[in-house]
Amino acid sequence: MSMPAARTPTLPQVLKEYWGYDAFRPLQEEAMRAVLEHRDSIVVLPTGGGKSICFQAPAVAMPGLAVVVSPLISLMKDQVDALTECGIPAACVNSSMSQSERLKVTESIRSGTLKLLYVAPERLCNDRMLSFLESLKVSFFAIDEAHCISAWGHDFRPEYRMLQQLRTRFPGVGVHAYTATATEQVRQDISDQLGLRDPKWLIGSFDRPNLVYRVQRRNDLRKQVRAVVDAHPQEAGVVYCISRREVDELAEYLSQAGYKARPYHAGLSDADRVRHQDEFLNDQTQIIVATVAFGMGIDKSNVRYVIHTGAPKSLEHYQQETGRAGRDGLEAECWLLWSSANFITWRKMQEELPAEAKTLALESLKGMERFCTGVSCRHKELVEHFGQTYPSESCNACDVCLDQLDLVTDPLVIGQKILSCVVRVKESFGADYVAQVLVGSKDARILDNGHDELSTYGLLKEEPKEAVRDWIEQLGSQSFLERVGEYNTLRVTPEGWKLLKGQMTVRLLKPSKRKSTRERSTKVEAATWDGVDRELFDVLRGLRRALAEEHSVPPFIIFADTTLRDLARRRPTSLGNFRKVHGIGEKKTADFGARFTDAIRQHCQANTLEADLFSDE
Ligand code: ADP
Repeated sequence: MSMPAARTPTLPQVLKEYWGYDAFRPLQEEAMRAVLEHRDSIVVLPTGGGKSICFQAPAVAMPGLAVVVSPLISLMKDQVDALTECGIPAACVNSSMSQSERLKVTESIRSGTLKLLYVAPERLCNDRMLSFLESLKVSFFAIDEAHCISAWGHDFRPEYRMLQQLRTRFPGVGVHAYTATATEQVRQDISDQLGLRDPKWLIGSFDRPNLVYRVQRRNDLRKQVRAVVDAHPQEAGVVYCISRREVDELAEYLSQAGYKARPYHAGLSDADRVRHQDEFLNDQTQIIVATVAFGMGIDKSNVRYVIHTGAPKSLEHYQQETGRAGRDGLEAECWLLWSSANFITWRKMQEELPAEAKTLALESLKGMERFCTGVSCRHKELVEHFGQTYPSESCNACDVCLDQLDLVTDPLVIGQKILSCVVRVKESFGADYVAQVLVGSKDARILDNGHDELSTYGLLKEEPKEAVRDWIEQLGSQSFLERVGEYNTLRVTPEGWKLLKGQMTVRLLKPSKRKSTRERSTKVEAATWDGVDRELFDVLRGLRRALAEEHSVPPFIIFADTTLRDLARRRPTSLGNFRKVHGIGEKKTADFGARFTDAIRQHCQANTLEADLFSDE
C-alpha cells in the first residue's frame, strides 16, 4: 500500500485506515498531538492501555522516519509484524539478523519508504548509526519501556543511559518516553536522564476495568488452578509461581492431567525458553507456568487469565504481572492464591538487604499483605495504592464487589473469640495451631498441651478451619494481631486489646460457597460476549490460526480476540461489511476478507443464522 504523500492524513483517518479503530483510548489523542507538535513527552499508561499506537499513528502521519527504542528483540519483532500486517512500512535492526537483511533495511530507510525503525539502545547509540540517522529526516524518537533508564525502576538496563546523547545530537527532534511504571520517582528520573525539555506529562488511570480480581487463600492449589483453567477451555493463561521448583512441578502436573502447559524460568536452557514462549504466543500451548522471568516483551493480547500461586513481593509487581491479562480490552480474570508462608519466605529473603532497602521492601510487602486480607474493592485498593482516586464505590469486577466474599454478620464476637484464644495459649503459638484449638481439633499436639481443656477450645467448631485461618490473617492485616519471633507466634496488639474490650470494630470476610463458573461471569464478560455466536467464534479462531501459520506470525497479530468476537457477532458476508468491523483496516480487508466472509457465509447458511447484522452506518 502506498503512503499518502500529497495530503497528510489526520490521526482519526490513520487510526481507521490502518487499524480499523473508531475512537481514541484515554490520553492517546493528547499523546499523539505532542508528537506531531514536536513537544517532548512522557506517557504513562498501564499495560494494555494502548501506548504503542501513540507513536505508531503519528509516525504514519508525519514525514520522515520515526526511530523506536525497544529493549528486546521479541518485542520489536512482534510490533514490526503487527505493523506490517496493517500495511505500515516498519522494520527492525538487531543482532539476530543477517548482513543482507540489514542491508535491505538500510536501503528502505535511504529510499524514504520506511516509517518506523525499531532498534535496541546500544545499537542506536553507536557512532555510525547516529551519524547515519543525522543524515536523514528523523521525525521523532520514541523510547518504549522508558523506565529501563532508571536505576530506581524494576528493569534497569544500563544501556538505556546511552540515550542521553539523543537530546544533544538531535536538538530539533522530539523525544518521547513511554512506560507503564507507577512510581513518581521513576517518572521524574526518566525525564532527567533523557534531558527532556519541558515535556508534556500524560499520566493515565491505573485502573484496568476489564480485569476481574479474585483473591483466595491457597488451600488445595492444584484443584484451585484447575478450576480456573477449566473455566477457560482453549484460552490462554499465565500461572505465576514464586520458585522454579514450583513451576516445574505444576507444569508437569498440568501436562500429566492433559492440559497443554509449558514451564518457563531462568533455569531452563535458552532454546527451551524460546520454544515454550513461541508455542504460547502461537496458541499451540494454552498455559505457561512461569516465574517472574516471564513477561517482559510478551505482547500477546488475548491472555484471558493470570493466576498467582503465591503473593508477589509488592503491589507494583502484582499490577505489572496481572497487567499481562486482557491487553485487548476484553475481560480477563486475575486470581491471587496466597498463603501466609509466602510472606514469611519474602521476609527471610529480605533479611540480607541493606537497611534502607529492607525498610522499603518490608513496606511494599505489607501493602501486598493488606491487599490479600483486605475487605474493600480490589480495583479501588490498587488504584489508591498508586496515588489515584477511584471514582466509584463498587467496580462490579472483583470478588468483593461481586459479593463472592460475604462479610460475617458478627465480626466482633468472632474477632474476640480468636483474640482470647491467642491470649489463652499464652501468645506462644502460630496461626495454624490457634485455628485448630478454635475449631476443636483432636490433634495430638493440642491434647498433649492440654489445650482441649481451655475455655476457647472448640469455640468456633461450627466453622471450617480455613475460614478461621483467614480471619486470623484479616485480624493481622487490620493490626489486631501481630506475628513475633522466629516461630511467628501470634501476639495481641494494643488495638487487639481494645477490640477485646469492645472499644473498636473489625471487618471480617468469609468465603462464600463456591459459585459455579457460569454464575461467576461478570457484567464485563456478559457485555463482551453479547450476541456472539460461540460456534462461529471457534470456526473463526481456527481460520485465524491457519492464516497465522501461513504468514508466520502469532495469531493475535492477524486479529485480536475483540475483532474475532465482533465478526462472530455481526457476521459480515461482504467485504464492505467486513471492513466495518472493529479492528479491521484496509490491508487486512484485502488480505483476509474473502476467506473470513466465505467461512461466515457457510456457517450462517449451515446453521440458519442471520448474517450481516449491520445497521445503516
Ligand atoms: P501497551 O503497550 O500500552 O501495553 P498496546 O499498545 O499493546 O498496549 O495496546 C493494547 C491493545 O489495544 C492492542 O491490541 C492495540 O491494538 C489495542 N488498541 C490500542 N489503541 C486502541 C484504540 N484506540 N481502539 C481499540 N484498540 C486499541
